[in-house]
Amino acid sequence: MLAALLCAALCTLSQDPAVLLVRVLDVSDARMGGDAILVTDSAAGRARHVLIDASDRGRTVVARLAAFRVDTLALVILSHPHADHYGGLSAVLRRFPVRRFVYGGTPRTAVSYRALLHQIDSLRIPVVTADTGVRRLTLVTRRDTVELALLAPPRHCRTLAPAEGGDEVNNCSVGVRLTRGDFTMLFPGDAEQQELGWWMATAPGLLRADVLKAGHHGSDNSTSADVLDVVQPRAVIISANGRQHPFADVLALLDARGIPTYCTADAGTVTVRVPRGRQWTITTQRQGTCHARTTAH
Ligand SMILES: [Zn+2]
Repeated sequence: MLAALLCAALCTLSQDPAVLLVRVLDVSDARMGGDAILVTDSAAGRARHVLIDASDRGRTVVARLAAFRVDTLALVILSHPHADHYGGLSAVLRRFPVRRFVYGGTPRTAVSYRALLHQIDSLRIPVVTADTGVRRLTLVTRRDTVELALLAPPRHCRTLAPAEGGDEVNNCSVGVRLTRGDFTMLFPGDAEQQELGWWMATAPGLLRADVLKAGHHGSDNSTSADVLDVVQPRAVIISANGRQHPFADVLALLDARGIPTYCTADAGTVTVRVPRGRQWTITTQRQGTCHARTTAH
C-alpha cells in the first residue's frame, strides 16, 4: 500500500507537465569535487533531459539518470575539460542516446579527454562549440519556454596552451543561465573570479539568478562578495564531496548574508522544482547542514 502511494506520488510528480526540475546530483563519491546536473522538463508532453557535466563517476551518474527514468539526453553540456566534470561522460554516452553535445572547445591533450571527443565523433553526435559570445538554446517551446543561454569563455581559451594549469582551465568554463518564466538559475561551471569578472563586463544582464550553483564547488576563488552582489541569489547549491570542497569562508559568507545553502555531500541530491506560475522550491534527498572541507590541498 505504501509502495503504491509512493509510486502514485512519484508518477504524478514526474508526469506533471507544468514542472521543471533541476537536480544537482549527489556525486560526492567523486575523487575531486565533481559536478553532474540534470535538467528535466515535461512541458512538451515527453520529458526532455539536459545533463550539465558528469563528474568523474560514470557508474554513479548512469545509476542516477536511470533512477530518474532518463531514456535520451536532448543535450549534454560540458562546462570545461577537467576530469571531475567529463570523466563520467564516456559511461553516460555508452548508456544513453545523446542528441547534441556542447563544449567550449578549449584544447587539452589528456588521453581520456581526447578519447571522449573521439567517442562523440564516432557516435556522430552533433557538436556545438560555444567559444564566442552568448548562444541561446531553447529546450521547450509552445506554452512553456525553457531557455539556456550559453556564456562562452574568453577568446584566449581557444588557444590555451595544453600545459596550462587548473585555474586557467577553470577560467575557460562554459557558463549556463537557465530561464523559465520568472525563474533563473546560473551554472558557472568552475569559473573563478577572473572569468566571472569577464562575464560581468561582457554579459552583465545574464548573471543575476534566483538560484546559483556555486562555481568551483564552493571555493573562495569563485564565490565572493562581489559575485554575490551581482548574482543576488536567493539560494545557493554547492556540488562538492566535502573533502576538498567547499571552503569554510564561502559557507561563512553565505551564512552572514542569510542565503540558504545546500550541499550535495551533506544533503544528497538537491532538487529545484519550478512549477509554472507558482513559487519555486528546493528539496533535498536527506537532511544535512553544509560542512566545510575536511582536507586542505
Ligand atoms: Zn570541478
